[in-house]
Amino acid sequence: MITFDKVDKRFGQTVVLDQFDFRVARGEKVAIIGPSGSGKSTLLRIIMALQDIDEGKVSLDGRPLWDAAGGKHRIKPTRKHLRDMRSLVGMVFQNFNLFPNLTALGNVAAAPRHVLGLSQVEAEARATALLAQVGLSDKLQNYPATLSGGQQQRVAIARAMALEPKIMLFDEATSALDPERVGEVLEVMRALAHERDLTIVVVTHQIGVARAIADRICFMEGGRILEDGTPQQILNEPRNERTRAFLRAVH
Ligand code: ATP
Ligand code: MG
Repeated sequence: MITFDKVDKRFGQTVVLDQFDFRVARGEKVAIIGPSGSGKSTLLRIIMALQDIDEGKVSLDGRPLWDAAGGKHRIKPTRKHLRDMRSLVGMVFQNFNLFPNLTALGNVAAAPRHVLGLSQVEAEARATALLAQVGLSDKLQNYPATLSGGQQQRVAIARAMALEPKIMLFDEATSALDPERVGEVLEVMRALAHERDLTIVVVTHQIGVARAIADRICFMEGGRILEDGTPQQILNEPRNERTRAFLRAVH
């Protein structure tokens, strides 16, 4: 479902991905852990078509997204291409990123209305159902400023699901929440993780979140995945010294 083949990504002198190989099968739930600056957000942004690559290939659902050699794009990143590929992916960020001037209902209905061209009534029906799924049926008319962090993040998840993506990406989605609010968002993420065909990639430094969602954990450092295994193996019997050092530091 997600394939990275020998991908290089640099920002000036900084090498973020170095001959990076990565594969996620349809329906897999993968957590990425690793030190700050190791390229986790960049990886997700490349999948979301928010960031290009310098070298290598990336494809989603068997369709090429990026193909670059010598810094030149073999696939032209036209607006249409990026829009088509983005429609496969939903992303939830650390800082909610809701439209402040729209209600919860308006936030979730916006993409179905404007991207899919659904009528107002159809878009709001879809948004109402999604907000019910995340436990916010009583907050449809609330503006983001009147919602708690956990509630805002649940709206953000409903919004990311509104175009029925095949891949959901979470970048530190629970990291800005008060500890007592993490559970309600994790519950929603867990429910999504039970959707058999939905592919999920979660970036988190909260080991409990990785354990709750993932059936595979990848430890990333120095532009590569240094260790890749089941949660049980990575968290309880890490083989790589760098993984061990990282886990000691975050525990
Ligand atoms: P964190 O755990 O702190 O969120 P991360 O693993 O998500 O870190 P990235 O945000 O992917 O790390 O950043 C990887 C490296 O790329 C860092 O050195 C960062 O400074 C650099 N970087 C990221 N985005 C840009 C950009 N737009 N321009 C220049 N450098 C960037
Ligand atoms: Mg990051």
